[in-house]
Amino acid sequence: MSTALVLFRRDLRVADNPAWSAACAEHAQVLPVFIHSDDEGLWSAGAASRWWLHHALATLDQNLRDAGAGLHLQRGEPLEILRVLIAGSGASAVYWNRLYEPATIARDTRIKSALQDDGIAVHSHNAALWCEPWQIATQQGQPYKVFTPYWRNLRPQLQPAEPLPAPCVPGWRQLPDGLPLAALALLPRIAWAGGLSENWQPGEAGAQELLEIFGDDAIGDYAHARDLPARHGTSRLSPHLHFGEISPRQIHFVLDLRARATDAKRRPDIEPYLRELGWREFAHHLLYHFPHTPTDNFNPRFDDFSWVPTDQALLERWQHGCTGIPLVDAGMRELWHTGWMHNRVRMIVGSFLTKNLRQHWQHGARWFWDTLVDADLANNTLGWQWVAGCGADAAPYFRVFNPVTQAKRFDPEGHYLRRWLPELADAPLSLLHEPWKDATLLKRSGYPAPMVELGQSRQHALDAYGALVR
Ligand code: FAD
Repeated sequence: MSTALVLFRRDLRVADNPAWSAACAEHAQVLPVFIHSDDEGLWSAGAASRWWLHHALATLDQNLRDAGAGLHLQRGEPLEILRVLIAGSGASAVYWNRLYEPATIARDTRIKSALQDDGIAVHSHNAALWCEPWQIATQQGQPYKVFTPYWRNLRPQLQPAEPLPAPCVPGWRQLPDGLPLAALALLPRIAWAGGLSENWQPGEAGAQELLEIFGDDAIGDYAHARDLPARHGTSRLSPHLHFGEISPRQIHFVLDLRARATDAKRRPDIEPYLRELGWREFAHHLLYHFPHTPTDNFNPRFDDFSWVPTDQALLERWQHGCTGIPLVDAGMRELWHTGWMHNRVRMIVGSFLTKNLRQHWQHGARWFWDTLVDADLANNTLGWQWVAGCGADAAPYFRVFNPVTQAKRFDPEGHYLRRWLPELADAPLSLLHEPWKDATLLKRSGYPAPMVELGQSRQHALDAYGALVR
């Protein structure tokens, strides 16, 4: 009776999971496994991601049990553990879905070659992307560095395709010595994660629920509402996409089906949303072709940029939302409390850090890495390099977001600011965006004075940039 081992990683779902489906179709017995290993170096999962992973694994295990198999948990060096599991189960094949970070590619290549040398068949699949990074190239066969032509190439190739159903489990090869989930020690020791539990439901069902809500309501107004941080105008599917609890194919299929079922007059335009998923694909394309970019500037000209030397006190004020600039503080507190921040606000807090404070973008990328539930090496790298101006297809460095103008434009009623800055909840709207204009308000509320003057710090940033391009 043939047995296959299925290695789950960031594909924590049973439906539309090509590796899981193929193993169930091709073998009489399957052994689903998750191996926790902190072997991604600098980019091993941060605290918020670990919290998510804990709950996502519990849910996946339950879903697998409902289907007739449980998740075997282990911790340590993946190749060593796989060899022990293969010996214990008599498996002849290993299945997994591919990952695309430089460290995971190197690890998986090594494991694949070692297992093949042992006489084990290794099958890898694509579960995470519409199109794998090497499948799209310019006419000269080069990787794209600019999003619009990349998307012009990719978009016509995307047809809504029916996702794979959850497969029937043929038979479950159960091994006795799996670890309990708690042994992976993923949960934080401090009570900080309360806000995460209030805001998220990790796992496949949580992802499907958000897709339902988004498809029912927000998709129709997405192009406009996606920029308003006070509204739930975006899908909030990013952590589910990162952990593979839902696939772009599932999202595309459902949104397209619903749009076509709506009468023509009210039919939502799903293109702006698909385009954002396109940015996710582009981020993976860039990371694959330019694997040094999580730590190095994409544009090497920025290697000579005069960042202000790392200032821990300054960084802590930014991290904890005490800069005295309301929109920046609201965003940083939203991040700390919920593990997520609205995209527009991510751009603004990033611009403030790298331009007004002139702290290196790596400080921001590291903090996001630890605190975001959707921390994703491809998207985070693209986002930070874009904001700092040193990335592929980046915002020009001289584009310094003005957090006051941005707040007035995208949070005109101040609902987002009041939600995250309780000390300013009663401030009159005329002062909410610039509370420093009234010394009495600052004193009464306890809200800090701005740590930098916006106009002056903007000018210093532009001068530093000017020195670079001369
Ligand atoms: P929606 O608007 O509903 O978009 C749907 C999906 O498209 C998202 O879930 C995401 O997978 C993808 N997407 C949307 N915008 C982008 C984008 N600009 N780049 C790449 N993919 C995108 N996103 C992450 O998933 N992980 C990160 O670590 C991350 N770090 C970021 C850091 C900075 C400085 C910036 C400016 C952006 C970052 N983003 C990151 C991109 C973006 O902010 C989030 O993907 C988005 O806010 C997630 O919310 P949503 O699911 O409601 O998005």
